[in-house]
Amino acid sequence: MSMDYDLFVIGAGSGGVRAARMSAQMGARVAVAEVSDLGGTCVNLGCVPKKLFVYAAQFRRGFRDAAGFGLAVTAPELDWSTLRGNKDREISRLNDIYGNLLTGAGCTLYRGHAEITGPNRVRVGNEEITAHRILIATGGWPFVPEVPGKEHIITSNEVFHLEQWPERAVVVGGGYIAVEFAGIFNGTGVDTTLIHRRDLVLRGFDQDVRRFAQQQFQEDGVTLELDAELASVEAIAGGYRVTLTNGKVLDTDLVLCATGRQPNTRNLGLEAVDVRTDDRGAIIVDDEYQTTAEGIYAIGDVVGRAELTPVALAEGMFLAQQWFGEGGRPVRYDAIPTAVFSEPNIGTVGLTEEEARRNYAVTVYESEFRPMQNTLSGNPLRAYMKLIVETGSEQVLGAHMVGPDAGEIMQGFGVAYAMGATKADFDQTIGIHPTSAEEFVTMR
Ligand code: FAD
Ligand code: NDP
Repeated sequence: MSMDYDLFVIGAGSGGVRAARMSAQMGARVAVAEVSDLGGTCVNLGCVPKKLFVYAAQFRRGFRDAAGFGLAVTAPELDWSTLRGNKDREISRLNDIYGNLLTGAGCTLYRGHAEITGPNRVRVGNEEITAHRILIATGGWPFVPEVPGKEHIITSNEVFHLEQWPERAVVVGGGYIAVEFAGIFNGTGVDTTLIHRRDLVLRGFDQDVRRFAQQQFQEDGVTLELDAELASVEAIAGGYRVTLTNGKVLDTDLVLCATGRQPNTRNLGLEAVDVRTDDRGAIIVDDEYQTTAEGIYAIGDVVGRAELTPVALAEGMFLAQQWFGEGGRPVRYDAIPTAVFSEPNIGTVGLTEEEARRNYAVTVYESEFRPMQNTLSGNPLRAYMKLIVETGSEQVLGAHMVGPDAGEIMQGFGVAYAMGATKADFDQTIGIHPTSAEEFVTMR
């Protein structure tokens, strides 16, 4: 049957753009629908603006720390409208680049909400379009718990466009976004409280990493309210009054909930084609990302195997090559390096010690130290590194770091990990001195 396109991609975010662009470059006739800004969450409301804010916080800390190096400057205050304006300009530049990438590769762009209306059939506005394959790459959306005063709570969607930067902030949650924004607020001079429902943040990370990182967040100046949840939020003169389940009451200028994200399947028409979702609302797919409906596929956060941009990119790349290239390389879900851009950074690849001990006899190597840049500055933050090695084979099962540049450092160790490096490989590697990273090859 003749169709308008070989591939119709719903969502021009990380996964969708990669799949569309690569497929078109390989000769497929491709269309992409996007209801909002090109680039998706990562470019507009996620990784990119977040990292720009992390740099702002780091610069401010840097000015403070410079005094110990003989460069005393008065600690600068954040000019929010400058940061927001410059960030918006950078993002609009990236939006244009994404548009050019798509059209340059030969993709047709539909601006609007896409809905699946039947097998091989999609509607955008008044247009009905047919395609051999439909790829759902619609991402996720922040989840906010039901509490009285929910309407006063903001999420990461709103925090990038605030009218005013707060003087006091309450951040709720203990995941990536919560600890990153606690670091951003605190680092830009905001009186910051992090509220988390457990006794340790960052569930899923190595226990020692969690403990160490949490202690460092406090050392850096974040107030932690643990084993506590929001009971209510009330608007008061000049801000909000937050009541916690432990009875404490805090007054603040802003309440940011970073309590997880949900797959975005709103009004997609999934029922029309029997695309099924799991109990989290994530689209169920097989090993080749086919949903429960033939010819309809899904990747990225809407599937939620790992809600990370490079994972969405890898999934999109796999499909493009599988369909229109020389065969896709399966995504290595067992070897995903990841970083939390908190202060200090956390970088990790492979198993936690707890996961490793479930299946292997392990030897653990650890190092804790004060990074050189924190010596003269008097900055109290320390670094922690941990290698988990299988006893016998000496294979490195996990590498973890809390400390400056952990995100940058861990990428290279991600390669070593994916290649199956052993502790002997690490030991044989000559260190780069003086760095923090060299500790990974000198731990004995
Ligand atoms: P998205 O990038 O979310 O793209 C989905 C697109 O689909 C959106 O543009 C949306 O508008 C569009 N869409 C939805 N429904 C429709 C429809 N019906 N019709 C047309 N268009 C539609 N990951 C990292 O790896 N590193 C980080 O540092 C990082 N930081 C983050 C910080 C924050 C605050 C957040 C929220 C996320 C962060 N992430 C980070 C996660 C990362 O952004 C996501 O994993 C990634 O964007 C997922 O890509 P995706 O293609 O699945 O979806
Ligand atoms: P996460 O899933 O990482 O964390 C959600 C947090 O909210 C958890 O601490 C969870 O607690 C808590 N929580 C969930 N429900 C409630 C509730 N009802 N009341 C109180 N607390 C609650 O989600 P995020 O929103 O932080 O981020 C979404 C995803 O985006 C991340 O998982 C990550 O994959 C990606 N991301 C990646 C980044 C990076 O690569 N640097 C940066 C930002 C986001 P509990 O642990 O108890 O369940």
